[in-house]
Amino acid sequence: MTSRRKFLQLSTIASMAPVTKLLGFKQLTPVTKPVVVSTWNFGLDANAEAWKILSTNGRALDAVEAGARVPEGDPKESSVGLGGLPDRDGRVTLDSCIMDEFANCGAVACLEHIVHPVSVARKVMEKTPHVFLVGEGALKFALANGFKKEKLLTKESEKAWKEWLKTAQYKPVANIENHDTIGIVALDGKQNLSGACTTSGMAYKMQGRVGDSPIIGAALFVDNEIGAATSTGVGEEVIRIVGSHLVVELMRQGNSPQQACELAVARIVKNQPKKSKEIQVGFLALSKNGEYGAFALQKGFTYAVKSEEAANKLFEAKSYY
Ligand code: ASP
Repeated sequence: MTSRRKFLQLSTIASMAPVTKLLGFKQLTPVTKPVVVSTWNFGLDANAEAWKILSTNGRALDAVEAGARVPEGDPKESSVGLGGLPDRDGRVTLDSCIMDEFANCGAVACLEHIVHPVSVARKVMEKTPHVFLVGEGALKFALANGFKKEKLLTKESEKAWKEWLKTAQYKPVANIENHDTIGIVALDGKQNLSGACTTSGMAYKMQGRVGDSPIIGAALFVDNEIGAATSTGVGEEVIRIVGSHLVVELMRQGNSPQQACELAVARIVKNQPKKSKEIQVGFLALSKNGEYGAFALQKGFTYAVKSEEAANKLFEAKSYY
């Protein structure tokens, strides 16, 4: 009996702790101005596109989709959409997801021949009872919904792949152009959050490999009461800790977006003390009150921020190593 009472007391304390912090978090004055944050240098162009929507009182969901479509459609970006580096068999396979303020979400993985997987993910969210379509099924769905079948492998990407075939060594190196994803999260003028994430994944990956980018909770998570987070880098490590969901839950417990990103990166280091020294993972988070933060394993993770008060600007995140 005593031990049961003790247990109940302890569990009451344990369950009260986060609630107290959450109340503290909610007391912060909300920012009513829109904000958009995106990963890597191409985040600047993505933010500029998203801002056209946010600055005219548009919805965060439309803004993040429009932003993500920018690097997807750029043949010079070799890690997203058109011109993305292929898998080891020379096939460009794309992964993407999107999530709105109502926790609606959609995703596609291993999708070939479609330039804008983020828009297919949105259609999955809006037109089907499902969250996730992959491979042939995702392509069939895209074509049935008016998307055009296109060749995604550009001459440059094909040349790089043929060069890679000479040694065929698979070694992900931090920050080099063979893996960079756009993750974009935004808060609109109505105080609603949304996010999107899109990539061609790790260059020269095994056929059928899917990383974190299309997985809700891993590379993207949005909770309209708390905040949103996205990730980039070696997806396997992000999946292992369900990274973006972890970041949002850490914010729920009262951590700032910056602290939450740092704690998530520290979790990867704890899981993989050796490996974490050689790979890159970065998190980017935005809170319901418009505060943002970012942190990475290695130096070199850049992210772009645009808000009403500030011009669209690139920052370099602090890093664990
Ligand atoms: N996260 C992506 C993946 O694992 C790659 C990246 O962001 O660099 O496919």
